[in-house]
Amino acid sequence: MTDKTRAVSPRPEGRPAVSAGQTDGGSAVSGTGTGEGWNAPKTLMEKASLRPLPTGAANDGAGAERSKSKLPRILSVISRHQLSPHMLRVTLGGEGLRNFPESQEGAHVKLLIPEPEIDPAGFLSQIEQGQRPVMRTYTIRHHRPDLREIDIDFALHGHEPGEEVGLKAGPESGPESGPEINSQVGQKIEGSGGPASNWAQRAIPGDFIGLFGPGPKKMTFLTADWFLLAADMTAIPAAAAALEEIPRDAVGTAVFEITSEEDRQEIDAPEGIDIHWLVNPSPEKPSREQSRFIRSIRWRPGRPSIFVAGEASVVKELRVHLLQERGIPREDSYVSAYWKIGVNEDTHQKIKRATAE
Ligand SMILES: Cc1cc2nc3c(=O)[nH]c(=O)nc-3n(C[C@H](O)[C@H](O)[C@H](O)COP(=O)(O)OP(=O)(O)OC[C@H]3O[C@@H](n4cnc5c(N)ncnc54)[C@H](O)[C@@H]3O)c2cc1C
Repeated sequence: MTDKTRAVSPRPEGRPAVSAGQTDGGSAVSGTGTGEGWNAPKTLMEKASLRPLPTGAANDGAGAERSKSKLPRILSVISRHQLSPHMLRVTLGGEGLRNFPESQEGAHVKLLIPEPEIDPAGFLSQIEQGQRPVMRTYTIRHHRPDLREIDIDFALHGHEPGEEVGLKAGPESGPESGPEINSQVGQKIEGSGGPASNWAQRAIPGDFIGLFGPGPKKMTFLTADWFLLAADMTAIPAAAAALEEIPRDAVGTAVFEITSEEDRQEIDAPEGIDIHWLVNPSPEKPSREQSRFIRSIRWRPGRPSIFVAGEASVVKELRVHLLQERGIPREDSYVSAYWKIGVNEDTHQKIKRATAE
């Protein structure tokens, strides 16, 4: 495991929050100042947190349309944890996870990113009136139903221009650490951020976010003769969850493209899975590393289960190789473009729908 660094800033005055009283169980939120903060009409909150949503509500792309008029669950930020230089774990939870289906590791959700100054009441009310906040797709890396918590791992791909974000070692941010957490601000990650990546870098305990879903898990062919997984940092959460779910005597190969050597993670994969890490310091540029690697591996006998997800051009090339050249049946594979160089998720989803990518 790499050096675990983390930092959060103290909550700025007046920053809207979900108060500790709005979570329950073991999920009290620290950093919310006086614990006041939010006085949303109970009916709206009840509608948002108690209403079970259809599992199809967050399907890639089309789910955005279907979920437009529904209210999302409102989750609070429990903690933020720098897993590695380019991967940030945000633990979300609270009352909003009531009635959430169990064992959702590897399932995707839609995160609805609030504007910095809005409070949960205003946020829900805007959605009720038909306005749609920025929505992005992420994967549940861990799920602790007993604590009403999920972990979302954000691949960091930039920051807001001119903004410094805390990324250097500091005290743990979480329920125990209180509001005086860390004032260290640190290195900048250069490049163009997006609303989700920027939100994660700014998130502090007590912040809130909207959530639709979950959608279905990704790798479903779990009785294969062997497994082949290829993922970049955005798809490591889904691939890792799959590797932790397949039989412990499974064999195969997993290749992960990461931004730096230090972005390697510990994954509780079966011993028979060979894990390879490829370092690409410029994920914003097209890469052929995974394709080269997969073309070079020893092809095992029997029927493989395939998981491929990441940047669109990489996925396209691997789809051609695996499904067309190798003849892997579609039903034995999960192949999905998670993002596309140069366009945001909304545009990418439109392109995917238009081309049935
Ligand atoms: C089913 C599914 C599950 C996903 N799970 C996860 C997950 O668990 N963790 C995760 O980090 N991502 C995940 N993603 C990918 C994530 O939704 C996209 O990376 C998304 O574009 C990030 O939103 P944003 O607001 O930060 O950037 P956007 O506003 O969408 O994009 C802004 C700019 O950043 C670029 N960009 C976006 N992502 C990256 C990147 N990773 N590296 C470099 N440049 C980038 C875009 O090309 C664009 O130019 C998942 C996607 C899908 C479809």
